[in-house]
Amino acid sequence: MTDTSFTDDLLPKYFFDHITDITPEDLAAMGARAVAIDIDNTIAHDGAFHLFHGVRAWVKRVREAGIPVIILTNTFPLRAKFISRVLGRLPYVANAEKPRQKGFQKAAEKLGVPVGEMAMIGDQLFTDIKGANEAGAIPVRVKFRRPEIFGYFHYKKLRRKEKKYLISKGHGDKL
Ligand SMILES: [Mg+2]
Repeated sequence: MTDTSFTDDLLPKYFFDHITDITPEDLAAMGARAVAIDIDNTIAHDGAFHLFHGVRAWVKRVREAGIPVIILTNTFPLRAKFISRVLGRLPYVANAEKPRQKGFQKAAEKLGVPVGEMAMIGDQLFTDIKGANEAGAIPVRVKFRRPEIFGYFHYKKLRRKEKKYLISKGHGDKL
């Protein structure tokens, strides 16, 4: 029996454990000339202002390689602005309402690249990856670090769905 509750829009094209594992060479090999990054569980714990170890250096390295970086987040503008400052005044799109496409298009526009040449790095299949696929960006999934505190049950359910989906696609080793 086929489970029709999932679509291939949820499928990442590339998998990494952590954002800091992704090199500028990896990005170039993906055909990415620009990068959009998620905040929660990608560069910081959910709702936190403190960044994961190595994220600042990673952003610097990618930008120095000539690949512009933008924050694309569903979080509120003040938090996005704070994190953008910490990361060297990265441009950002807050309240992006991922998976809606408009945020992806806006981010690509701000960076001056076609959306098809922008990688989206994020932890969530239902927002980052689905949105990236639908907008035509390059979907890159990183592992989430720890369960969300805000909306705990909502996310627990989502993570269970993600797990089921990835296993069904033969990516059970990437959980
Ligand atoms: Mg996230």
